[in-house]
Amino acid sequence: MSHNHFILKMLNIKDENIQVLDVIDTLSTNKEKTILIKARLSYPVERCVNCGFDTVLKNGFAKAHIRLDSLNGQRYEMLLHKQRFICKSCHSTFGVTTSLNKPNQTLSCKLKNQIMLLTKEGLNNELIARICHCSASSVRRTIIERVRSKYRVSVLPKHLCFDEFRSVKNVFSFICCDAQSHKLVVKLPDRLSSTIINYFENRYSKQERDQVESVVVDLNAQYQRFIRRLFPNAKVIIDRFHIVQLVGRALDNYRVSLARSLDKKSREYKILKSQWRLFHKKMDELEDKKPTYLKGINEYMTQQNVIDLVTNKFPKFKTIYQMYQGITLALRDKDVTRLNDLLDNYTKTHTELDTTITTFRKNRSYLKNSVISQYSNGALEGINRKIKLLKRNCYGFRNQQFFFLRIDCIFA
Ligand SMILES: [Zn+2]
Repeated sequence: MSHNHFILKMLNIKDENIQVLDVIDTLSTNKEKTILIKARLSYPVERCVNCGFDTVLKNGFAKAHIRLDSLNGQRYEMLLHKQRFICKSCHSTFGVTTSLNKPNQTLSCKLKNQIMLLTKEGLNNELIARICHCSASSVRRTIIERVRSKYRVSVLPKHLCFDEFRSVKNVFSFICCDAQSHKLVVKLPDRLSSTIINYFENRYSKQERDQVESVVVDLNAQYQRFIRRLFPNAKVIIDRFHIVQLVGRALDNYRVSLARSLDKKSREYKILKSQWRLFHKKMDELEDKKPTYLKGINEYMTQQNVIDLVTNKFPKFKTIYQMYQGITLALRDKDVTRLNDLLDNYTKTHTELDTTITTFRKNRSYLKNSVISQYSNGALEGINRKIKLLKRNCYGFRNQQFFFLRIDCIFA
């Protein structure tokens, strides 16, 4: 085997028509240490590509500069002398082609692959450019060239999740994923009902939409209005996390306002202020036998005792606390009757909880679905987190289209 063969093998170049002439250390235009490979590309051509006659003559070489993918963090470039041909019949000229790069492009296909691999990790353009030894705008161009946003997914999933995320200029964008496979289905520029309806109605047939069995949403009322129209057979499920979050917020807000009205030296104040985690802990997981030293109150007490101390003294707080616990446990145990009882037997406390319960009563059937169903928006929250991280890594995006392409890079 020749040296040429091994050099090409090491550089992972498959084109055997390339003949390496020299390998030299040099500096690139921006004074970066570069390894320059001088090579020649030639192969016999029988017939003219334009007219098909066998009247082809060799016509010198044309120089082409190609950026290769970096090896061990080194910048590699190739100065390739490409054979040119001239046709005696039609007087046209043409040159040889290679799989190394596309015609008239400096970046080799391998380098572009390397760039695309790094975009999958959510790095910013400048960092990718530094790793791959090219410019940030090359990275941007490569992404625009390589990534195509999907017109639609091939099969509309049976279980969908709806949510939104903050995209450019503080606009909320709609996002939808498959509840089972956790794959991204679509992201839309905004969350307007018309945009979402248009997307699903124009790209999926009625039969396909009829197949959808459930849609998970948060308590945002606007989605529920058109889900019935888009997916007539789908059950609306309210995300369990949002249900707990809503009651939890009511509990916390009342706890804070109650604490404000108390004497700061009192035991109850100290409990409300420092042991707030215990109120969120599930009732039957509280420690009721072994006393522990509780910081903030500076006493030995069981966790159950702490709760009892406050709830016995403030009946209104007790109602709210029990409501929170009841809903949390009903969701955990998938107990629909218990949830219904809780909503039916609730008496007004003149706090934030009243509104929350009214909302729940209004959406009772959806709430029931979320107790029974195994699906939640967890997967979508994970996707949203990755998007947020991407935005942070890239110091924000100005162009929404490009932002969406970058998201596609991650979830492709
Ligand atoms: Zn010709």
